[in-house]
Amino acid sequence: MVQILRATDMGFCMGVRRAVEIMQQTARPDAPVYSLGEVVHNPHVVRRLEEGGVRPLPGPDVLDGNVGSEASRIAAGHPVAITAHGVGLRVLEDLRARGLPIVDTTCPIVTRAQRYAQKFVREGYHVLIFGDPGHKEVRGIVGWAVDAAGVSRATVVESPALDRLRTLIAEFPGGFPSKVGVMAQTTHKMEDFARFVANLMLLQRERNFELHVVNTLCHATTGQQEAAARLARQVDVMIVVGGRKSANTRHLREVCEEQGTPAYHVEGPDDLQPSWFEHVERIGITAGASTPDESVDAVEARIRELLHA
Ligand code: SF4
Repeated sequence: MVQILRATDMGFCMGVRRAVEIMQQTARPDAPVYSLGEVVHNPHVVRRLEEGGVRPLPGPDVLDGNVGSEASRIAAGHPVAITAHGVGLRVLEDLRARGLPIVDTTCPIVTRAQRYAQKFVREGYHVLIFGDPGHKEVRGIVGWAVDAAGVSRATVVESPALDRLRTLIAEFPGGFPSKVGVMAQTTHKMEDFARFVANLMLLQRERNFELHVVNTLCHATTGQQEAAARLARQVDVMIVVGGRKSANTRHLREVCEEQGTPAYHVEGPDDLQPSWFEHVERIGITAGASTPDESVDAVEARIRELLHA
């Protein structure tokens, strides 16, 4: 009999649950709320919210402060919702200037990272963010690291590798800053951020700069990653449920694979392949922070069907 086990910590995190609840309480089908991008990286949740009146405004423009390009779609008086990933200061100011009612569902952990970015810049630091430059949360944090003249004082760095950081420092436009404030995208892996910081410290021996590190990682994410790793070590295959665009779901799959266990990222039951479950005795399931319980239930039900086919 094949066993199916779920990770002890998985699925909707505090920030996403909170954002979804606020949106549901605010929007109605006949009184829509316009969200700046998708509320979460999960198509099932987005669809359900749309039915309740939450209408996502598409495109990167709105996240970079060009709400004007989308403003015509926002009927006068309808609220605009900031998602859990947050937005930059310019976007917030643009919304305020337009007099649009704002529903801010930015996760408090993301807000904390934004405030640190702002504080670093005010204290004369250049901000190094270990993260994905295209990620919505990271773009929002970058949007808070601006000086009084509105000039960005942040650099997003994707790789923690020593040689990449050495090149970054050597080729930094205008010379590497003397004071550097370091933080990470909240959903990044702890081991990777630790390596990023350790390598920067090694490079301090080659070039003198002040380093101030703040740990902006989210405990919800690291807890889920640890639970996923524990489970992966006990099973023959891991199924990781979550939206394809979800960074933390992708990281969960990586964490599982690092334990030497095959791991597959699925968005829903239709993505499951029968061949993954041949000759296995134990199957593990985990889910990203933007994955609702219904998606996990549907995936588990489909695995059971495939096992009995
Ligand atoms: S993963 Fe963490 S930081 Fe991101 S929304 Fe959830 S609780 Fe907030």
